[in-house]
Amino acid sequence: VSKKFGTGNSRILVFVRLRPMARKEKDAGSRCCVRIVNGRDIYLSEFANENDYLRLKRLRGRHFTFDASFPDSTTQHEVYSTTTSELVEAVLQGRNGSVFCYGATGAGKTYTMLGTLENPGVMVLAIKDLFTKVRQRSCDGNHAVHLSYLEVYNESVRDLLSPGRPLILREDKQGIVAAGLTQYRAYSTDEQVMALLQRGNLNRTTEPTRANETSSRSHAILQVVVEYRVKDASMNVLHRVGKLSLIDLAGSERALATDQRTIRSLEGANINRSLLALSSCINALVEGRKHIPYRNSKLTQLLKDSLGGVCNTVMIANISPSNLSFGETQNTLHWADRAKEI
Ligand code: ADP
Ligand code: MG
Repeated sequence: VSKKFGTGNSRILVFVRLRPMARKEKDAGSRCCVRIVNGRDIYLSEFANENDYLRLKRLRGRHFTFDASFPDSTTQHEVYSTTTSELVEAVLQGRNGSVFCYGATGAGKTYTMLGTLENPGVMVLAIKDLFTKVRQRSCDGNHAVHLSYLEVYNESVRDLLSPGRPLILREDKQGIVAAGLTQYRAYSTDEQVMALLQRGNLNRTTEPTRANETSSRSHAILQVVVEYRVKDASMNVLHRVGKLSLIDLAGSERALATDQRTIRSLEGANINRSLLALSSCINALVEGRKHIPYRNSKLTQLLKDSLGGVCNTVMIANISPSNLSFGETQNTLHWADRAKEI
């Protein structure tokens, strides 16, 4: 499968983004336990007096290096252009690609992906970029950008643009499709798209106990399909179709130990199933195995045609600076470090 997407280095690009300290964390008296050096190296120090980088480098699980590590002052635009703009270029060449945000609940995944009206995130900036470029390059003005936005929650798939019953996944000639999923044709890139996605996000499943907060068990997938025609050097018209998938993954933290109810643990198991299935697929792809276990979860079934080319996969791991999240941060970085090597 990976051959389909052609050349390039056959590994996943892995980035880490540190968010600013939150008010709540400051009020709880937390200290910063993360240092980013040279835009690549990350040092984790649990204790305030632990700032000897040479020593931290020797401690397992205390020093990491990524394709880029973004300090808390990094703008949404910087994150977009470093992580995703090249992928957008590949999609315009007719390939498929995907960007994942991974990390604990509250670490900044949704901010990175969706962002706010004032500071739009990767999803919005990618659509904007695709729009501008497809307009410039289309040889006949006949181009289309279609969006679909869906959620995987408890191994059931829902349309976030037109909420209703769970969607059924079917396999047809084109691959796996969610039957009846809304394909929204976008005509502009400005606030309309942002508003559409924000409305979609309001349709994400929330916890019964915290009605305004998106469930940490919900995965959100935005798929953008671009279609246009270009003329090659000998004036032949080429039809190009590419798909970009942008995924705000469920929280990567362990299910709370206090949470023993049957439904909860079932949901927890399913989240792990999707995240686990995602890692096994990525592993299998990079190792060049013949059998890729896409069927193990709804998330990987939906991303079957977007995970094929490993060189077209980007991971952004989100972390908090607070020492109160030390364990989660260490887990996230450990996972990201593994993804980097495969
Ligand atoms: P997650 O989706 O991983 O659970 P959120 O994206 O909702 O986390 O982020 C948690 C809080 O931190 C939100 O209030 C969000 O606005 C804020 N936040 C996250 N990242 C940043 C950032 N880079 N700059 C400013 N605020 C951020
Ligand atoms: Mg979120």
